[in-house]
Amino acid sequence: SHSKYDKDKGVNVQVLLRCRPLSEEELRMNTPVVISCNEHRREVSAVQNIANKQIDRTFVFDKVFGPASKQKDLFHQAISPIVNEVLEGYNCTIFAYGQTGTGKTYTMEGGGGRKTKNGEFPSDAGVIPRAVRQIFDILEAQCAEYSMKVTFLELYNEEITDLLAPDDSKSSDDKSKKPIALMEDGKGGVFVRGLEEEVVYTASEIYKILDKGSAKRRTAETLLNKQSSRSHSIFSITIHIKECTPEGEEMIKCGKLNLVDLAGSENISRSGARDGRAREAGEINKSLLTLGRVINALVEHSGHVPYSKLTRLLRDSLGGKTKTCIIATISPSIHCLEETLSTLDYAHRAK
Ligand code: ADP
Ligand code: MG
Repeated sequence: SHSKYDKDKGVNVQVLLRCRPLSEEELRMNTPVVISCNEHRREVSAVQNIANKQIDRTFVFDKVFGPASKQKDLFHQAISPIVNEVLEGYNCTIFAYGQTGTGKTYTMEGGGGRKTKNGEFPSDAGVIPRAVRQIFDILEAQCAEYSMKVTFLELYNEEITDLLAPDDSKSSDDKSKKPIALMEDGKGGVFVRGLEEEVVYTASEIYKILDKGSAKRRTAETLLNKQSSRSHSIFSITIHIKECTPEGEEMIKCGKLNLVDLAGSENISRSGARDGRAREAGEINKSLLTLGRVINALVEHSGHVPYSKLTRLLRDSLGGKTKTCIIATISPSIHCLEETLSTLDYAHRAK
């Protein structure tokens, strides 16, 4: 009866590593590369030799995507099987984790390209539009009766903002970003009160939703990166599929896919953040630390799972009949080495 799920009750956590290419600016500056990726051996090495400091470390991951890896390949090799699990009724979560500027948003949402040729996505389209398209393609091929809705929220300083809330044209920008509440539903679940849910009918609608949400994402300027994002964003897709058992009984299968673009992992002293930023960075680190513990607890099947707001939001998708995938993103540049090593260490421990 439930054989598919009975066979595979264990928690499934996958950790992938992606290294971005050098930017044009870095190429112009002849920035030394200290990272090498061996996709076949699933290894990443950080090597740097200077007289008083020698680093030579190698890490193994479930999958490694080097600087030349394409969006399409990452999706097909790592994400597409997870999307299939969602359609089987699993709750799955994909995290992008890494230093600001290493490609978290590029991996999740894509590059700047938004125009579609003959309904095709541009080659730099990220995980979110590709996942949505795969879901539609499969359900339409099955002639399934289904509905799909998405939510897009941001967690900043432990405060939730709805990125899909309609703009209140007369109020100031800040008023339309009023925080909303995380509530217990009394059945062990959690829901966000007042969160906008958009019903989606076609894959291309996703770009409109992504643009709307991304434009709203709160960013703060730091010395490290003007686009530095101090917030986590969670894009969730919920699908209800109507099915008939061989006995002719009607059943609704529900799957959920969470796509989480985590705040930059860099520490505050390096980015020059202080005062107001310090508390912020503290909160970011706290929720990342908690997330790391949650994932470790899940892997070790320990009963003690610590929950911050981030992990409470994802409660129905961490543990139990769920799959988790962490995409750790790094830069190949010598200037990021310290942060890269801590990303590699963290991502490695999460496994
Ligand atoms: P983050 O979200 O981690 O701060 P971004 O996704 O904004 O980083 O990436 C920083 C810059 O690097 C962007 O201009 C992005 O287009 C580029 N970039 C990141 N990853 C890749 C990649 N794998 N291939 C090409 N360009 C990339
Ligand atoms: Mg980003």
